[in-house]
Amino acid sequence: MTNSHYIAGRWVEGQGNDCISVNDPALGQPFAEFMAASVAQVDQAVAAARSALPAWKSTSASERAAFLRGFAEQLGQRREALIALQMRNNGKPRHEAEIDLDDAIATFGYYAELAEQLPAKHRDVPLAAPGFTARTRLEPVGVVGLIVPWNFPLVTSAWKLAPALAAGCTVVLKPSEVTPLIEQAYGQIADALGLPAGVLNIVNGKAETGAALSNHNGLDKLSFTGSNSVGSQVMRSASAQCRPVTLELGGKSAIVVFDDCDVDQAVEWIVAGISWNAGQMCSATSRLLVQNGIADTLLPRLQAALENLRVGNPLTEEVDMGPLTSQAQWLKVAGYFATAREEGLQCLAGGKALDRDGWFVSPTLYTDVPKHSRLWTEEIFGPVLCARRFASEEQAIAEANDSRFGLVATVCSADLARAERVADALEVGHVWINSVQAVFVETSWGGTKGSGIGRELGPWGLSAYQSVKHVTRCLG
Ligand code: NAD
Repeated sequence: MTNSHYIAGRWVEGQGNDCISVNDPALGQPFAEFMAASVAQVDQAVAAARSALPAWKSTSASERAAFLRGFAEQLGQRREALIALQMRNNGKPRHEAEIDLDDAIATFGYYAELAEQLPAKHRDVPLAAPGFTARTRLEPVGVVGLIVPWNFPLVTSAWKLAPALAAGCTVVLKPSEVTPLIEQAYGQIADALGLPAGVLNIVNGKAETGAALSNHNGLDKLSFTGSNSVGSQVMRSASAQCRPVTLELGGKSAIVVFDDCDVDQAVEWIVAGISWNAGQMCSATSRLLVQNGIADTLLPRLQAALENLRVGNPLTEEVDMGPLTSQAQWLKVAGYFATAREEGLQCLAGGKALDRDGWFVSPTLYTDVPKHSRLWTEEIFGPVLCARRFASEEQAIAEANDSRFGLVATVCSADLARAERVADALEVGHVWINSVQAVFVETSWGGTKGSGIGRELGPWGLSAYQSVKHVTRCLG
């Protein structure tokens, strides 16, 4: 476990100041530890990516596509190990760990296809003016830094790595210190495939390592997924260097349930939106807006559904929901339970940590939560759902949009024309209608307002790593 950083095609020991402890959240105990990368090692990783860039960006799109397909295939070959590691380190139930792996595989496969389509995009531009020709080139942005959080480690990294490599960029990836072992698979795969040294570098560490990367003047772009507080520091570094940045930040998303819904179906979607990954999702639909006519029927059924969720250790029990992934997150969520008590909120389910080892909390429901409550306005990042009632479609839209965030939303209604109308009016990056949060690689991911800048996935995810150039020639 000592050689945990992948720099210039070699595995090296960390020389940083921080010791990284890798925990099993279901037991609340560490199972591995190693030293973070030092600032000098971040420098080495950026230098390796820089020297690998000219050759990598000159590879053909089909060569890069072959590497990306190799990543997809090799992820599949490591299936059992990667599922087990996500269960142990993230506390994910098995079916969630499987879906994450499949999502990462699909992402590499999709960007392999997009890479293959790149040559056809280098085409002439029809000009109205006579006497000139113009052609488009989509060039890689260059050396990119990728900083990611811990909640979906395989997936979030795949959403950045696959399009960056497809575009012809070289990368330095910094995984979260909470789940640093999972993305090591990407370095091992790079080794197995013979990816040229320096094209992919992985440095592990905490804030010191992350800041060394985001402040580095050898990067051409930084793509960050994480909290708003760190995101704003990353943006400050980018602005100091006038460098592009993509930010995928937090959320406080709404799920809007109209009177005409099938109640049991709506309960299923609401529960999935707050309990998946123990609510540790930027896209958690943690604000429930329920219409007056259905609220008194729906809320007791929702309470029962949340209370019936099987919460436990995914490695030893059949569970619907595992623990929170870190002690820090557990303490944060417990702090919100205390705030709810101070604010006198009405608690219909949960509202407490579980009385057992590990970082478990109960799935929680507060009702009739005032709009000014911290639990209604702040991202909690746990299985804590707050509900309010509404009378009209206009009120539902206004309340859903009344947030500093704008990541996603869900609309539940049997009236599809109304559902589509509401979806169009919501100020977010992705809306689901009568659905769980199905994320397809062809669609986009990212938010409005405080939820970030830019989009991942789909062709937009590739554009984020491309620079558009035109060559115009005078024929005269
Ligand atoms: P975080 O901001 O604490 O950490 C994210 C990453 O930044 C980690 O790798 C961390 O080590 C690194 N980091 C910490 N300090 C740094 C610094 N000063 N400079 C540079 N890097 C630094 O976030 P987290 O707790 O890991 O993740 C939870 C947050 O991520 C939530 O707010 C969640 O909403 C957000 N998130 C957003 C999306 C999205 O797509 N919008 C997806 C997943 C998570």
